[in-house]
Amino acid sequence: METSLQKCISIVVPVYNEGTHIRKSMAYVGKLCEEASIPYELVLVDDGSKDNSWQEICSMAKEDARITAVRLSRNFGKEPALCAGLDIAAGDAVIVMDADLQHPPEKIPEMVRLWQEGAEVVEGVKSSRGKEKRSYRFCAKLFYGMINKATGIEFDNASDFKLLDRKVVEAMKQMPERMTFFRGMSAWVGFERKMFEFEVAERVDGGSKWSLKRLISLAVTAVTSYTSAPLHCITVLGFIMFLGAIILGIQTLYMKIAGYARDGFTTVILLLLLIGSMIMISLGIIGLYLMKIYHEIKGRPRYLTSRVIRHKEEEK
Ligand code: UDP
Ligand code: MG
Repeated sequence: METSLQKCISIVVPVYNEGTHIRKSMAYVGKLCEEASIPYELVLVDDGSKDNSWQEICSMAKEDARITAVRLSRNFGKEPALCAGLDIAAGDAVIVMDADLQHPPEKIPEMVRLWQEGAEVVEGVKSSRGKEKRSYRFCAKLFYGMINKATGIEFDNASDFKLLDRKVVEAMKQMPERMTFFRGMSAWVGFERKMFEFEVAERVDGGSKWSLKRLISLAVTAVTSYTSAPLHCITVLGFIMFLGAIILGIQTLYMKIAGYARDGFTTVILLLLLIGSMIMISLGIIGLYLMKIYHEIKGRPRYLTSRVIRHKEEEK
């Protein structure tokens, strides 16, 4: 075995209410790595779970020196949990995957091989979206379609299942934004990239932990982080409205002068409605960016850890 020569891989897993299966799932991941003789450490980030996830992770970390358990002080969301994992991971490469085994751990040896062949970012691309609800699939399609168009970064079928070289992790740690979008950040940094396909497996247990509110907020973060196109749209919209206003204005004046002017209530109401709604939408879009600036300028930490359990390795 060439274990001593091989570099260590950190596997970062965000965990939120996965208590029922986390022990089994992670044991499976560990077993696969051992079989492929990949030296690894597992960084389990408990994102303020309300079930027994933390107890499970805790005892796992105490039993196995390769497992590090991190507890965030509350539920921050998957993105901050990933950041916490990346900050703590010490490996020469970091693999990020979901706790529910929807990212098939069988792919880990292939990812490591691609990395050893020189790739600095190894990205998982979904070959199919697994058994997701039709409504979910529709939302995902809409979401990515919007982001692809707006940002020019290909997000389609991209996933958070990735291997990042230490260099890439350090580069991402330098990105100071508070509201993060992992996929966008890992695309933005560049580096030597290779892809592999994987089939999204079925969730081991329980339902998706993403609420609709969180998904929408992620979509907004994704768009506002990578493009200011919506702001330009407002300006363009304003000009179009102005043009319409001039034409309508001339017509109205002509009608008035020629003596055809009617009560004109319909036009007034229609115009009021249209302009009113346009202004509201525009203000809302500006508001989104303002909110983002506000959140960033507060400069609060992305997450807070309440506990870290890790075996201190003896210095050899
Ligand atoms: N997750 C998290 N915090 C949250 C929601 C989810 O850490 O607030 C974790 C969850 O435990 C899982 C991963 O993020 O490991 C993906 O979540 P899920 O499977 O619910 O999302 P989906 O597969 O539907 O994208
Ligand atoms: Mg999942």
